[in-house]
Amino acid sequence: LARLRGRLARSGSPLGARLLAVLSRDHLTDDDWDELEETLLLADVGAGPTGEIVEALRTRVRVEGVKDPAAVRELLRSELLAIVDPTLDRSLSTERHPGPDGSGVPAVVLVVGVNGTGKTTTIGKLARVLVAEDRSVVLGAADTFRAAAADQLETWGSRVGVPTVRSDRDGADPAAVAFDAVRQGRAEGVDVVVVDTAGRLQNKAGLMDELGKITRVITKEAPLTEVLLVLDATTGQNGLTQARVFGEVAGVTGIVLTKLDGTARGGIVVAVQRELGVPVKLVGLGEGPDDLAPFDPEAFVDGLLG
Ligand code: GDP
Repeated sequence: LARLRGRLARSGSPLGARLLAVLSRDHLTDDDWDELEETLLLADVGAGPTGEIVEALRTRVRVEGVKDPAAVRELLRSELLAIVDPTLDRSLSTERHPGPDGSGVPAVVLVVGVNGTGKTTTIGKLARVLVAEDRSVVLGAADTFRAAAADQLETWGSRVGVPTVRSDRDGADPAAVAFDAVRQGRAEGVDVVVVDTAGRLQNKAGLMDELGKITRVITKEAPLTEVLLVLDATTGQNGLTQARVFGEVAGVTGIVLTKLDGTARGGIVVAVQRELGVPVKLVGLGEGPDDLAPFDPEAFVDGLLG
């Protein structure tokens, strides 16, 4: 937590400094409120949530007669937290399930998102976390579209010591690879199978088809316990558009927001959470195997406020 807060703070967030500058004024003028609004927009909080937050804050300052800048900051903190919602369950479902014959089947985590957002890296980091918890893991390289994708996943697999199921030919049927991975995981009594997918967003019908088929074949073998959508925090409001599409086609259960280390615009968390109503569960804080952290709403909002 301290690490997350420290790293968000170190990302040089101008939001904290700017907010503090605005909120430390004795009396907030219309210009100050505009500046506050602009600061939130610049941090990628998004137009909708920003409007609501500023409106709610103005009302509370007026109605409750709040003057003290520290108290205004506290109100802003509570408005942000109300959207990010600390009460949501952010745990990952990675428990084995009882099978039809009582033998038990692996949990299956499907990882979706546009290419380049950090899916493969996130899977490597996640496998590392699971292995550290003494869980056995199999990776499925169902991104058969890009030739290098399976190699990259396999490299992460060997790095963290877990096997990767892949096809030996390019352009193989992604659903077939996903099926093989889950079947192997089941045969070997593995705890969690994590399946990588190709994120081709050019064609929504195609994406829906592909993810639908992958989902169907997986659930023949084992329950799909998590569908994680990986979003790149540095893509700002574009990420939201992607999130919307995947949210519609993939039945997303949680969001992984990557590259938070590389942006001062972490407000995208607020926008994403509001927009999708799906909790941000994990955040990526770097390219290394240990750079994945559970998302902590309070630490996050404190980091944002600086
Ligand atoms: P994929 O195409 O969605 O599988 O994306 P990759 O896993 O290949 O990641 C794309 C690039 O983003 C790689 O260079 C990763 O090292 C980098 N990356 C992934 N996650 C993070 C993160 O949390 N922080 C930073 N700084 N880079 C990341």
